[in-house]
Amino acid sequence: MSEVQAMSSPHHAGGPPPAAVRVEEVSKRYGDRLAVDAVSLEIRQGEFFGLLGPNGAGKSTLVEIMEGLRRADTGSVALFGRSPWPRDTGLLPRIGVQTQSSAFFVRQTAHEHLRTVAALYGARPGSVDTTLEAVGLTAQRNVRVENLSGGQRQRLAIASALVHGPELIFLDEPTAALDPQARRALWEVLRGLKAAGRTIVYTTHHLDEAEALCDRIAILVDGRVAVTDSPHNLVAAAHAPSRLLLPLGRLDRRRAAGIDGVERVSEQGGSLVLETHAPGQVLSAVDRLAGLDGVQTRTPSLEDVYLDLTSGLTADPAAGKPAGTPAAETITEP
Ligand code: ADP
Ligand code: MG
Repeated sequence: MSEVQAMSSPHHAGGPPPAAVRVEEVSKRYGDRLAVDAVSLEIRQGEFFGLLGPNGAGKSTLVEIMEGLRRADTGSVALFGRSPWPRDTGLLPRIGVQTQSSAFFVRQTAHEHLRTVAALYGARPGSVDTTLEAVGLTAQRNVRVENLSGGQRQRLAIASALVHGPELIFLDEPTAALDPQARRALWEVLRGLKAAGRTIVYTTHHLDEAEALCDRIAILVDGRVAVTDSPHNLVAAAHAPSRLLLPLGRLDRRRAAGIDGVERVSEQGGSLVLETHAPGQVLSAVDRLAGLDGVQTRTPSLEDVYLDLTSGLTADPAAGKPAGTPAAETITEP
């Protein structure tokens, strides 16, 4: 399939195609715990959408409601304009699901398992081998599921969500059990799917992953969407400080604190850390006072935004910042 073909979805007379996912005012309670609290979201077709949030924030519950695996107490969900609950068999071939606790067919090899899944969805022959290859399990094709390592089993679960070529793919912490190589390899698979026009809904704890992959993210805190935007816009809007890291002993702490533009000085992991919203100005002052040898600079990242939102502080994002703070500025990473 060419990219252009894949991206052009059937046109609907008089309007844009329906959203891949539309969630309206969805709530879900477990006993006295409100796991999802009046969440509304819209995910466009072809979008790579990340759901982030601490453990227990309600990510899995929300994703499972989107998938039609759980029923919302109130509110509504539509996938391509159709409700996933009660079970819509017309929708099933169009969606792929990897849940956090994946079940496998027992005593089957990786290949047999995936063949069974493929048959259930009427996937085309040949898709089993290409999908095993895509997730890096070709060498394990004849290994029984119970003998696969945790990371291999996770990759088989991902393969099970992809084997029938769905348009909309839900992955719930897919990289949780993966080593760094397997994680990067999965990123490439997912970028390929995104380039082919698929829609991906993705929960993760890895902020670098969200930054590298997602067009937009929503950060869930206590069942509620705290923010939704592109990682870039979130970072830019947060006005988090840049950090300059100096080798310890290079510059006296008091002198560092006296540099114009330095807002905070601390010691972390063998470095003296200077926080500032004027990194260019502070960098030249450090250069004059101590030289730049071994000095590292860190620009604000999604992690700063995330920690700010999820640390339990209901801080006014504009508070405590000097007036006329410049937007995040890019300086070279070492
Ligand atoms: P996340 O995926 O963000 O870690 P979950 O959606 O799994 O969050 O859980 C949200 C909250 O709901 C947590 O407090 C969790 O303990 C609770 N919860 C999740 N599933 C159930 C369930 N089946 N029964 C009761 N409580 C649940
Ligand atoms: Mg979860």
